[in-house]
Amino acid sequence: MYYTKFPHIDQLLRYTFVDKDVRGELVQLSNSYRRFFLGRAYPRAVNRMLGELMAATSLLTATLKFEGHISLQIHGDGPVNFITVNGNHKQELRGLARVRDEVSEDLSTVKELLGPNALLVITITPERGERYQGVVAAEGDTIASLIEAYFNKSEQLRTRIWLFADGEFASGIMLQVLPAAGTSDDDFDHLVHLTDTITEHEIYVLSGEEILHRLYHQEKLELYPPQRVRFKCTCSRKNTLNALASVSPEELEEILLADSVITMTCDYCNEKYQFTEPELREELLRR
Ligand SMILES: [Zn+2]
Repeated sequence: MYYTKFPHIDQLLRYTFVDKDVRGELVQLSNSYRRFFLGRAYPRAVNRMLGELMAATSLLTATLKFEGHISLQIHGDGPVNFITVNGNHKQELRGLARVRDEVSEDLSTVKELLGPNALLVITITPERGERYQGVVAAEGDTIASLIEAYFNKSEQLRTRIWLFADGEFASGIMLQVLPAAGTSDDDFDHLVHLTDTITEHEIYVLSGEEILHRLYHQEKLELYPPQRVRFKCTCSRKNTLNALASVSPEELEEILLADSVITMTCDYCNEKYQFTEPELREELLRR
């Protein structure tokens, strides 16, 4: 067993059921989750949805068999028109939401927030090799049901996901049949039934090991070393400058006439990058 000192250390625990060919993952996030909306004023419902999407992204990146990253995006035409989280095999996550209308307190489902035509796009990008993209219509009400639909459609592996987020803590559990396994539906259903007894309160306050014991004390589990999850943005001065390169020279001249310094703010982490006129002339306008 691996023990953690605090229940709310941001971590992902992976486990397998020794005699059932099913894998499980448990993720519990607090600091990394709160960092997502530092300096922003998202409505509460959006904070919760970002938390669920963050927990889901962490669970999905843990299934990668290679180095790379996964992005989960939901596009829609509701009061929120875009929400995304990216994560990589090192469990470094970042994300954002674009809110275009007022989000009232009573809205919570994917359809209410992102509209009836919402689409979930999952993009898996290995560091070496080809990118894979899967798209599913957001037919269910929850992020968990969307991701389950994605697995049923694209991977055809029985998968169940539980996601929780309240603006302070975000957590999730995933159960998945191992590929080419001989697990019966009954075995999987039994584990789903056990996992279903988790409560939102327990998943926030108990340590990962306590939760696994509470849910599966009659099962034989193999636990893997926990992995730390953290917020990390991939933006840089160089990438930001490259983004400015897509602005036409005429437009840049116009902006520089109005202001001798251009400030670009990263949508993911709020980092501000400033470029002075001489710098931009040197870097961009000579190209
Ligand atoms: Zn950034």
